[in-house]
Amino acid sequence: MSKADYVTKLHAICMQCGNMANYSYRKIPNDDQVMLGATDVYEPRCRKCYDTK
Ligand SMILES: [Zn+2]
Repeated sequence: MSKADYVTKLHAICMQCGNMANYSYRKIPNDDQVMLGATDVYEPRCRKCYDTK
């Protein structure tokens, strides 16, 4: 098995600590400037980091 950097939706990596992420944390609160390509608005986070904010 190769160690791939590839991140699937099912096995996203927490951007904060590198654990497995099960949550999508919205970095930008409700804002009119919701991006066109809103890929950067969310980042994967594990539960712990998601609660921490
Ligand atoms: Zn985390």
